[in-house]
Amino acid sequence: MSERKPLRKCIGCGQVQEKNNMVRLVKANDSVDIVLDNDRHMDGRGAYICKDIKCLEKARKSKGLEKSFRMSVPALIYDSLEKEFVFGSK
Ligand SMILES: [Zn+2]
Repeated sequence: MSERKPLRKCIGCGQVQEKNNMVRLVKANDSVDIVLDNDRHMDGRGAYICKDIKCLEKARKSKGLEKSFRMSVPALIYDSLEKEFVFGSK
């Protein structure tokens, strides 16, 4: 029996990967902030991205977050996600 793994599409590169290999980004319902959901327990609208800062850069250029969350995303949010990526990935 093969276990079916949940797959998600990266908002940066567009590749479909196992959810477990990806980072979840969440917009909390009561806020415009988008944060990394490291524990995957946060409520709110979510999007997935590879654990690769290059994908975050791609998402910034292609407005991946804007498309996923259907709102305008200030550069500030990309900047802070970038910092979390850098420090959270080791
Ligand atoms: Zn990716």
